[in-house]
Parts: sequence; structure tokens; C-alpha cells
Amino acid sequence: MTVNTKLFQTIVIAFLLVFTPKVISQQNTIEIEIMPPSIDQEATSVWRTINDIAFFEKQGYRVNLPKGEVIDALIAKSKKGTFGNEDYASIYTFLETEVFDKNDYELAMESVKEKKQLIEEIINEIAEAKESWDWNFKTFDRYPIVFTLYGTGGSYDPDTGKVTLFTNANGQFMNYKSPANTIVHEISHMGMESSLVQKHKLSHSLKERLVDTFVYLQFKTQLPEYRIQNMGDTKLDDAVKNQEDIAQLDEILTKFVE
Ligand SMILES: [Zn+2]
Repeated sequence: MTVNTKLFQTIVIAFLLVFTPKVISQQNTIEIEIMPPSIDQEATSVWRTINDIAFFEKQGYRVNLPKGEVIDALIAKSKKGTFGNEDYASIYTFLETEVFDKNDYELAMESVKEKKQLIEEIINEIAEAKESWDWNFKTFDRYPIVFTLYGTGGSYDPDTGKVTLFTNANGQFMNYKSPANTIVHEISHMGMESSLVQKHKLSHSLKERLVDTFVYLQFKTQLPEYRIQNMGDTKLDDAVKNQEDIAQLDEILTKFVE
């Protein structure tokens, strides 16, 4: 009796060991990871913004930076062309002693947490659908989501899968109420960066139009708020009209750029 019970337990445990990981990995193999804010990451955000301040102002971007004499002096330095790596330490110290407060990020993090499941459903759906496309949508196993109060908007890092979301202390995001829209937009940028954008040498405005059209056609139902921005190149609209076109984007773009 004891022997049989033990044998049965062993069989059950062996069965679970063999089959459980497969069951788990079938759903949501790709995940987003909501990262806690750090002074280092924000100091980098401020440094980059000040470094490119002349360009941003010329382009008419709204630039967000912490307020203070230290920052004003560094902006003046940047415009004179004498700003550099050695100024990072003073930014870090300024944030650490006078500005940085991790509570400022809480509402934004909460808001992304609420949309985590939806975003993961969307990206896992892409991973499955792309098998039948004529181009490779590059996916990452995990997408770190970081938050910043500074700069001009969201950004992505196509080498690491990292998405930087611009937010404020009230937990508001740019352009949309739900952060899912921007996160899926940035994930799509990374997905097509090498296989479509670089391959066909698309301009900045064509790239934006392509990403917007892709998200809009593919995820109309899951992201009803999503809008195509005005900044993109509208010449693409006749070439990419229906959801079926997504499967042939490489062929379509090959003809389009001819
Ligand atoms: Zn974009």
C-alpha cells in the first residue's frame, strides 16, 4: 500500500515535471516587464535631452526638463557646443539631491500594469501571425518598460527591446489615455526596424506611417483609441490598405520604393 502510493506520487510528479512547463510556455511566452525608475536612467534621459536641445528646439518639439539653475547653465553650455560626458555627474547629483522621487512614477506604473495582459496578448498574437508573413517581425522574449519624466516623448531601443515611456507625476501619457497604444507602437517599430525600414531605406515619415498603419490595421479591435499620426507620409496609404496587406509588406515595399 505504502509502496504503491509512493510509486503513484512519483509518477504524478514526473508527469507534472514533463508537462507543466510546456503548458505554461504556450501562453504568453513574450512578456513585458515594468521596471522601477532609477536615478541613473533619468540622469541619462536628461543628459540626452540637453545634448540635443538645439535640434529639438529647431524641430519645434516640446522639451521637458527639471527646473533649476544647474539645468539652465547646462542648456547654455550645450548651445555653445561645450556640453559633454563630463556633465553627467552634475545632472545625477542634482536629481539625487533635489528632484528624484520614486512616487512620481507610481501612477504611470499602475496604469501600465492594468494593461499588461492586453499588451502581452497583442505581442504574442503577432509572434504567431508573423509565421505566415513575407517579412520577419523581430520579437524579444521580454520587453523592459521604463518611465521618464524628461525629454520629448517615448522611444525604443531596437537592440534590447526596451521601451521608454514619457509620463508625468499624474500618471498621464502623451497622445493617449491608455499606455497600451504607445507601447504597441514602439514594439512595432522594433519589429520592423531591420527587416523593413532599414532594408528598404525608408524615410522617417514613411517609417512612422508604416508603423501606424500596421498597428491600426492589425489591432483595430484591441486598441480602438489608436490613431494614425499626422506626421507620416501619406503616399503609403494606397499601397497598404487592408489587414491582408500586412502579410506581403516586403513585396509591397519593394514595389513602392522602386
Ligand atoms: Zn513612432
